[in-house]
Amino acid sequence: MAPLPLDVLQRVFGYDAFRGDQSEIIEHVSGGGDALVLMPTGGGKSLCYQIPALVRPGVGVVISPLIALMQDQVDALLALGVRAGFLNSTQDLGERRAVEAAFLAGELDLLYLAPERLRVESTLRLLDRGKIALFAIDEAHCVAQWGHDFRPDYLALSQLHERWPDVPRIALTATATEATHTEIATRLGLQEAKHFVASFDRPNIQYRIAPKNEPRRQLLELLRTEHPGDAGIVYCLSRASVEKTAEFLVGQGLTALPYHAGLEASTRATNQSRFLREDGVIMVATIAFGMGIDKPDVRFVAHLDLPKSVEGYYQETGRAGRDGLPSTAWLAYGLADVVQQRKMIDDSEGDLAHRRRLSQHLDAMLALCETVSCRRSQLLAYFGQSGSESCGNCDTCLAPPETWDGTVAAQKVLSTVFRLDRERRQRFGAGQIVDILLGKRTPKVDQFDHHSLTVFGIGTELAEGEWRGVIRQLLAQGMLAVEGTYQTFALTDASRDVLRGERTVHMRREPKRQARSRTPRAPQVALAPDAAPLFERLREWRAGVAKEQGLPAYVIFHDATLREIATRKPESLAALGSVGGVGENKLAKYGQQVLDTIASPA
Ligand code: ADP
Ligand code: ZN
Repeated sequence: MAPLPLDVLQRVFGYDAFRGDQSEIIEHVSGGGDALVLMPTGGGKSLCYQIPALVRPGVGVVISPLIALMQDQVDALLALGVRAGFLNSTQDLGERRAVEAAFLAGELDLLYLAPERLRVESTLRLLDRGKIALFAIDEAHCVAQWGHDFRPDYLALSQLHERWPDVPRIALTATATEATHTEIATRLGLQEAKHFVASFDRPNIQYRIAPKNEPRRQLLELLRTEHPGDAGIVYCLSRASVEKTAEFLVGQGLTALPYHAGLEASTRATNQSRFLREDGVIMVATIAFGMGIDKPDVRFVAHLDLPKSVEGYYQETGRAGRDGLPSTAWLAYGLADVVQQRKMIDDSEGDLAHRRRLSQHLDAMLALCETVSCRRSQLLAYFGQSGSESCGNCDTCLAPPETWDGTVAAQKVLSTVFRLDRERRQRFGAGQIVDILLGKRTPKVDQFDHHSLTVFGIGTELAEGEWRGVIRQLLAQGMLAVEGTYQTFALTDASRDVLRGERTVHMRREPKRQARSRTPRAPQVALAPDAAPLFERLREWRAGVAKEQGLPAYVIFHDATLREIATRKPESLAALGSVGGVGENKLAKYGQQVLDTIASPA
């Protein structure tokens, strides 16, 4: 008789109950139905195919582009007592033969395959000779041709249905926009499948977007005051800034590693493996890093540069806090980011429609940065989901920004731009505009006679940083443009409305630097004082086991599990077995050691 899904959840994975749509999805796929699952990172997608694979006769075949992570995924399953293997290009013939033999002998529950394997006829014939429980297509957005993760090999996955019409397919992704959703369904032939769209909210992530002034110092303060000893990811736009930032953090005594496409493959692999295996490593990376990284205890994701789209931002920040514990998503953003991104769009290859699309992505990201209402509700609205008006766990909810009527200030900036427009061949950046408004006699002001402009010195009511904020917000709201080779500021139709007094401009007040005490802090993870020392002892024990077995620490037990053990201090194997994340296999393997650690003197 086939085991019941809930029974498998409790026995194998050690969890009490299904979350969200898991139960319905698992029921549907176990019964032979096709499914398309949209669920945020950390939502619990893996169980949606792992449990049906265990419930149905045969092997669950998982297509995943993440070759570098397959070994870890398989190790994590083996630790649970699930029989898993993988086939990809990193193996030698002998290893491959062994996995194939296990597959044919019915000795596997799950088989992970790189998509390019399916282009090899011998793989298809191999699959024909075994019994397949289901096909799971992970990271299904890789089939979307306009997406940022497109993999041509994914297009071939439409053949699965033709070749094995009776095998259910489940496609999963954390990319949520309607366009991607539709494209996945069409390209994989899943229009008839049941679609499950989960809530995309990640309540344990605190979203914060701060004005950028000294990004590295700001980052350091965040790490020192809120995340000492925590694992996290710092995203930078360029390879050079990745390297510099990593060096800077190392110079400050932190464990930070660089990751970008320009590094040797072996360096990348080593750094990724250290990030996954060691506690408290900070990965400084371009967006080349992160897809499929299922490290559950990433406590923060920091962006030192503006992401290009809300989708990208949400994917990247989503890598924080998969274990459901409080985590921080922090972004530093400034005027130069807007100018740089606009320029990158202007310079990009592709037709007008392509550039327009990039521009729309950027505008949505800028709107998120400049909003004075809840960041989370704006994010969810972007994905077509409505949340509450105020989440209570983002910077704008925790410290509501003041707004002010910036119409006159905007007019002053725009008039200055209008006057400088006559000298088009010169590149005058924001600095020159601010100096003119403040009436500063700098060498560059003198050189171009800018002190004779009528706008010279008309803006002494605001400080330099505030003027930069005004310019940034005008750019973000499309009331000012950046144009041409010299990246000069230019007026837009909207700026003319402002200049004519036909449009009011609401602005976000720039936070004063010294108002630091008002910056929200990530809520401290509450662990009772008498539980904390035991938690640390358990972590030490776990680090030892992980090292000995060459496994990432979280494969042994998640932090969330160790916290619960430290709090409840179970005295018997039975009591330990009721802790979330302690399944039969781990109880048998580690149970006694954990009880000994609990009993050992502090
Ligand atoms: P995703 O692939 O959607 O990003 P995962 O499958 O990695 O998410 O699951 C995220 C985390 O949630 C994992 O640590 C997993 O063990 C845990 N998890 C998933 N389902 C449950 C559940 N029903 N009860 C408790 N924990 C769960
Ligand atoms: Zn909020």
